[in-house]
Amino acid sequence: MNNPDRTRKDETSKTDSWYARALAVLRSRDLYLFCIMIALFGICTLLYYFGELVDFAGWEALRQDFFYTVHDIHRLFFLGPIIYAGYIYRVKGAVLVTIAAFIVFLPRALFISTFPDPVLRAVLFTIVAGLMGCLTGMVRNESERRSLLEARTKSERDRMFRMLANMEEGVLIIGPDYGIRYMNPSMVREFGEGMGSHCYEYLHNLDRPCDQICKLPAVTAGATERFEYNFPNGRTYEIVASPFVDSDGATCQLATFRDITQRKQVELELIELDKLKSEFLSNVSHELRSPLTSIKGIVSSFLQKDIEWDDASREMLLTGISEETDRLASLVTNLLNMSRLEAGVWNPEKERHNISDIISETLEQQKRVHRKHTFEIDLKPGLPEICADYNQIRQVLINLLENAVAYSEEGTRIAVKARAVDGEVEVSVSDQGVGIPLEELGKIFDKFYRGSQTRQRPGGTGLGLAISRAIILAHSGQIWAESEVGRGSTFYFRLPVADLATEWRLKLDG
Ligand code: ADP
Repeated sequence: MNNPDRTRKDETSKTDSWYARALAVLRSRDLYLFCIMIALFGICTLLYYFGELVDFAGWEALRQDFFYTVHDIHRLFFLGPIIYAGYIYRVKGAVLVTIAAFIVFLPRALFISTFPDPVLRAVLFTIVAGLMGCLTGMVRNESERRSLLEARTKSERDRMFRMLANMEEGVLIIGPDYGIRYMNPSMVREFGEGMGSHCYEYLHNLDRPCDQICKLPAVTAGATERFEYNFPNGRTYEIVASPFVDSDGATCQLATFRDITQRKQVELELIELDKLKSEFLSNVSHELRSPLTSIKGIVSSFLQKDIEWDDASREMLLTGISEETDRLASLVTNLLNMSRLEAGVWNPEKERHNISDIISETLEQQKRVHRKHTFEIDLKPGLPEICADYNQIRQVLINLLENAVAYSEEGTRIAVKARAVDGEVEVSVSDQGVGIPLEELGKIFDKFYRGSQTRQRPGGTGLGLAISRAIILAHSGQIWAESEVGRGSTFYFRLPVADLATEWRLKLDG
């Protein structure tokens, strides 16, 4: 069954849609253009037959010679609507209006005209006018196609530039005249503004193109170039340069710049580390072999039954064995500590300690081993306690004292001092040795790094200071060195004073 409400609604919507459509047509530009077209055509027709109309209506006042002269001139009016149709409705419109105009010409040509060959003249005019209308349509078509193409190219270019603007890499477009046509924000950030200048001035501070580095000729000839380059700003970039046709048709170079300075540095560091590791391995083998060779030599001498050893010689040889064994033990300890630190299993077991106790005990033991140096100790009274791993801090002191001995002449003085500064305890170990060149001071705490003075200590491993730094950092402290070549070095480390808060924090962390 039909629902009356629904039917009414349908009807209303139908009327609405008709009304809306009619309104749309009335409002549309096409209708106005069409009306202009009809009006033009109507006026032309009226003018064409105006003489006949005046005769028919007897409007003597409007009788003008012009309307009775050659009809070819009257036909010229029709060029207006025909060209207009060609412009608005292109070739088809021009053809239709030309045919309509010919139909208008026919009655006069067939029945009214007194001029010779009226039909032939009408046909000839129609053909010429039609051609002109069609030509107008074709020209309009072509120009529209061009502007459409230009608009599309422009929108694609804009889209591409929007994409380039968001790229992390720097992007530069260089014209065939070396002029910079485009730079994205990353490029401006890294190299500064350079629009309008030449690439050789902007990038290389040159006053003309440089043949050795310039890829522009190859790229504009169609090649894509990928290369690395160190710029005067000290950074290394990976550059990919490829051809790019700009909106004016010029073949340009579009280059992307990726900053690879850090990657290069890491690569160099890895190479350096590799070199250091190989040096380390050969040093370790040498360091392990030399005490073993001495011990083996001494033991073989003892085993020779034909030699009688007096007490002094025996003591000297046994001391030799003891010293070599200590060297071996220290080396093995360093290696072990380093691997524990690397594996993260050498965490400090922190407890309250008096730094004076650690220093005194370590120094006593070192004095026994290194008898040819003079050791001095200066501990300020009432030093606060620290919260530290006794063995690890002792290891740091051993490393610093062994270095002080190794890098200074026999008979020189080695001083160990401790004082309280700004809520920390500062310990220093000074020697009167060879010193460290300024440029090495920043590297001596690196793993496997061995300075230029290594001949003072052949076979070292470059691990002692790296281990010491790792230990001090694990105690939230600081370690550094001051030195003067030829006068000696002082190594400092500071550790926080043990207060209740830190102790509790450590316990909670633990
Ligand atoms: P190693 O002594 O085995 O070479 P270290 O890590 O202990 O390794 O020291 C690294 C470098 O620091 C040494 O090779 C040396 O050049 C320099 N160095 C350390 N201590 C001293 C010092 N007291 N005097 C001069 N140079 C030192």
